[in-house]
Amino acid sequence: MKIICIGRNYAEHAKEMKAELPSEPVFFMKPETALLKETDFYLPDFTNDLHHEIELVLKICKAGKHIEEQFAHKYYDQIGLGIDFTARDIQTECKLKGLPWEKAKSFDNSAPIGKFENKTKFILNNINFSLTINGEQKQLGNSSDLIFSFDQIISFVSKFVSLKVGDLIYTGTPSGVGPVKIGDKLEGFINGVSYLTLSIK
Ligand code: MG
Repeated sequence: MKIICIGRNYAEHAKEMKAELPSEPVFFMKPETALLKETDFYLPDFTNDLHHEIELVLKICKAGKHIEEQFAHKYYDQIGLGIDFTARDIQTECKLKGLPWEKAKSFDNSAPIGKFENKTKFILNNINFSLTINGEQKQLGNSSDLIFSFDQIISFVSKFVSLKVGDLIYTGTPSGVGPVKIGDKLEGFINGVSYLTLSIK
Protein backbone atom coordinates (compact mmCIF):
# COMPACT_ATOMS: atom_id res chain seq x y z
CA MET A 1 0.00 0.00 0.00
CA LYS A 2 0.98 3.61 -0.30
CA ILE A 3 0.09 6.83 1.46
CA ILE A 4 -0.79 9.82 -0.67
CA CYS A 5 -0.81 13.19 1.06
CA ILE A 6 -2.37 16.40 -0.19
CA GLY A 7 -0.59 19.66 0.64
CA ARG A 8 -2.05 23.15 1.03
CA ASN A 9 -5.66 22.02 0.82
CA TYR A 10 -7.00 24.53 3.37
CA ALA A 11 -6.62 28.24 2.59
CA GLU A 12 -5.82 29.26 6.19
CA HIS A 13 -3.01 26.69 6.37
CA ALA A 14 -1.55 27.80 3.02
CA LYS A 15 -1.59 31.33 4.45
CA GLU A 16 0.23 30.33 7.66
CA MET A 17 2.86 28.56 5.52
CA LYS A 18 3.16 31.75 3.41
CA ALA A 19 2.34 29.61 0.37
CA GLU A 20 0.18 30.53 -2.60
CA LEU A 21 -3.20 28.87 -3.01
CA PRO A 22 -2.69 25.94 -5.38
CA SER A 23 -4.44 25.94 -8.77
CA GLU A 24 -4.42 22.12 -8.76
CA PRO A 25 -3.96 19.59 -5.93
CA VAL A 26 -0.40 19.32 -4.56
CA PHE A 27 0.48 15.77 -3.60
CA PHE A 28 3.38 13.75 -2.26
CA MET A 29 3.72 10.23 -0.92
CA LYS A 30 4.85 8.42 2.18
CA PRO A 31 5.93 4.75 2.08
CA GLU A 32 4.21 1.96 4.00
CA THR A 33 6.96 2.18 6.64
CA ALA A 34 5.63 5.64 7.56
CA LEU A 35 2.35 4.18 8.86
CA LEU A 36 2.08 4.08 12.66
CA LYS A 37 -0.81 2.18 14.22
CA GLU A 38 0.60 2.25 17.77
CA THR A 39 -0.15 4.99 20.29
CA ASP A 40 3.48 5.75 21.17
CA PHE A 41 5.56 7.94 18.87
CA TYR A 42 9.30 8.29 19.44
CA LEU A 43 10.54 11.74 18.52
CA PRO A 44 13.27 11.35 15.87
CA ASP A 45 16.65 12.93 16.65
CA PHE A 46 17.18 14.48 13.20
CA THR A 47 14.74 17.35 13.70
CA ASN A 48 14.34 20.15 16.22
CA ASP A 49 10.93 21.23 14.90
CA LEU A 50 8.56 18.31 14.37
CA HIS A 51 5.09 19.63 13.47
CA HIS A 52 1.69 17.97 13.83
CA GLU A 53 -0.72 18.16 10.87
CA ILE A 54 -4.09 16.57 11.67
CA GLU A 55 -5.85 15.31 8.53
CA LEU A 56 -8.97 13.45 7.44
CA VAL A 57 -7.90 10.21 5.75
CA LEU A 58 -9.69 8.27 2.99
CA LYS A 59 -9.26 4.51 2.63
CA ILE A 60 -9.32 3.30 -0.97
CA CYS A 61 -11.61 0.28 -1.55
CA LYS A 62 -11.31 -0.22 -5.30
CA ALA A 63 -8.38 -0.15 -7.71
CA GLY A 64 -8.47 2.47 -10.42
CA LYS A 65 -6.70 4.95 -12.64
CA HIS A 66 -7.96 7.96 -14.60
CA ILE A 67 -10.99 8.03 -12.31
CA GLU A 68 -13.58 10.59 -13.34
CA GLU A 69 -14.67 12.95 -10.58
CA GLN A 70 -18.30 11.85 -10.85
CA PHE A 71 -17.30 8.24 -10.05
CA ALA A 72 -14.60 9.00 -7.47
CA HIS A 73 -16.94 8.41 -4.51
CA LYS A 74 -17.04 4.70 -5.39
CA TYR A 75 -13.31 4.35 -4.77
CA TYR A 76 -13.23 5.03 -1.02
CA ASP A 77 -15.46 3.55 1.63
CA GLN A 78 -13.96 4.59 4.98
CA ILE A 79 -12.84 7.81 6.63
CA GLY A 80 -10.43 8.15 9.52
CA LEU A 81 -8.01 10.53 11.10
CA GLY A 82 -4.24 10.68 10.77
CA ILE A 83 -1.28 12.92 11.45
CA ASP A 84 1.10 13.98 8.70
CA PHE A 85 4.17 14.54 10.86
CA THR A 86 6.53 17.02 9.24
CA ALA A 87 10.09 17.91 10.18
CA ARG A 88 9.49 21.58 9.47
CA ASP A 89 13.14 22.62 9.80
CA ILE A 90 14.17 20.02 7.22
CA GLN A 91 11.24 20.83 4.93
CA THR A 92 12.17 24.53 4.98
CA GLU A 93 15.74 23.63 4.04
CA CYS A 94 14.51 21.37 1.20
CA LYS A 95 12.19 24.10 -0.11
CA LEU A 96 14.99 26.70 -0.09
CA LYS A 97 17.24 24.35 -2.07
CA GLY A 98 14.43 23.33 -4.43
CA LEU A 99 14.78 19.71 -3.30
CA PRO A 100 12.06 17.08 -2.72
CA TRP A 101 10.43 16.91 0.74
CA GLU A 102 10.81 13.19 1.46
CA LYS A 103 13.42 13.63 4.18
CA ALA A 104 11.01 15.89 6.06
CA LYS A 105 7.80 13.96 5.41
CA SER A 106 8.36 10.28 4.65
CA PHE A 107 10.43 8.96 7.54
CA ASP A 108 9.41 5.91 9.59
CA ASN A 109 6.25 6.42 11.69
CA SER A 110 5.57 9.85 10.18
CA ALA A 111 1.96 8.87 9.44
CA PRO A 112 0.11 7.89 12.64
CA ILE A 113 -3.36 6.59 11.85
CA GLY A 114 -6.37 6.16 14.10
CA LYS A 115 -9.59 4.21 13.66
CA PHE A 116 -11.78 4.31 10.56
CA GLU A 117 -15.54 4.45 10.14
CA ASN A 118 -17.71 3.71 7.16
CA LYS A 119 -18.14 6.95 5.18
CA THR A 120 -21.92 6.56 5.27
CA LYS A 121 -21.65 7.69 8.90
CA PHE A 122 -20.66 11.18 7.78
CA ILE A 123 -22.04 14.14 5.87
CA LEU A 124 -19.00 14.28 3.60
CA ASN A 125 -18.93 18.04 3.04
CA ASN A 126 -19.47 18.83 6.71
CA ILE A 127 -17.03 16.79 8.79
CA ASN A 128 -15.61 18.57 11.80
CA PHE A 129 -12.22 17.46 13.06
CA SER A 130 -9.72 18.71 15.58
CA LEU A 131 -6.49 18.03 17.42
CA THR A 132 -5.77 18.68 21.06
CA ILE A 133 -2.38 18.58 22.78
CA ASN A 134 -2.50 17.93 26.52
CA GLY A 135 -6.20 18.77 26.38
CA GLU A 136 -5.78 22.13 24.64
CA GLN A 137 -7.23 22.55 21.13
CA LYS A 138 -4.52 23.30 18.56
CA GLN A 139 -6.18 22.60 15.19
CA LEU A 140 -9.80 22.72 14.08
CA GLY A 141 -11.03 22.00 10.57
CA ASN A 142 -14.10 21.17 8.56
CA SER A 143 -14.24 19.33 5.24
CA SER A 144 -16.39 22.18 3.87
CA ASP A 145 -13.20 24.28 3.83
CA LEU A 146 -11.26 21.90 1.57
CA ILE A 147 -9.90 23.68 -1.51
CA PHE A 148 -10.07 20.39 -3.45
CA SER A 149 -12.85 17.96 -2.46
CA PHE A 150 -12.31 14.26 -1.76
CA ASP A 151 -13.62 13.42 -5.25
CA GLN A 152 -11.45 16.04 -6.96
CA ILE A 153 -8.37 14.71 -5.15
CA ILE A 154 -9.04 11.10 -6.18
CA SER A 155 -9.69 12.09 -9.78
CA PHE A 156 -6.57 14.25 -10.00
CA VAL A 157 -4.14 11.87 -8.27
CA SER A 158 -5.35 8.87 -10.28
CA LYS A 159 -4.33 10.59 -13.52
CA PHE A 160 -0.73 10.12 -12.41
CA VAL A 161 -0.73 7.25 -9.89
CA SER A 162 -2.92 4.14 -9.96
CA LEU A 163 -4.88 3.65 -6.77
CA LYS A 164 -5.00 0.23 -5.13
CA VAL A 165 -7.19 -1.28 -2.42
CA GLY A 166 -5.87 -0.25 1.00
CA ASP A 167 -4.10 2.90 -0.13
CA LEU A 168 -4.65 5.89 2.15
CA ILE A 169 -5.13 9.50 1.16
CA TYR A 170 -4.33 12.16 3.78
CA THR A 171 -6.45 15.04 2.55
CA GLY A 172 -4.62 18.07 3.96
CA THR A 173 -4.36 19.93 7.23
CA PRO A 174 -6.18 23.01 8.52
CA SER A 175 -4.30 25.90 10.14
CA GLY A 176 -2.75 25.72 13.60
CA VAL A 177 0.18 23.42 12.84
CA GLY A 178 2.99 23.57 15.39
CA PRO A 179 5.71 21.65 17.20
CA VAL A 180 5.35 18.63 19.50
CA LYS A 181 7.69 17.70 22.35
CA ILE A 182 8.42 14.64 24.48
CA GLY A 183 5.65 14.11 27.02
CA ASP A 184 2.87 15.60 24.86
CA LYS A 185 -0.42 13.72 24.58
CA LEU A 186 -2.14 14.25 21.24
CA GLU A 187 -5.79 13.41 20.64
CA GLY A 188 -7.71 13.69 17.37
CA PHE A 189 -11.49 14.02 17.10
CA ILE A 190 -14.06 13.73 14.34
CA ASN A 191 -17.38 15.38 15.11
CA GLY A 192 -16.38 15.42 18.77
CA VAL A 193 -15.57 11.68 18.96
CA SER A 194 -12.00 10.55 19.71
CA TYR A 195 -10.42 8.70 16.76
CA LEU A 196 -6.70 8.87 17.54
CA THR A 197 -4.45 9.18 20.57
CA LEU A 198 -0.69 9.52 20.55
CA SER A 199 1.96 9.93 23.26
CA ILE A 200 5.20 11.61 22.25
CA LYS A 201 8.10 9.70 23.80
MG1 MG B 1 -0.11 17.59 5.51
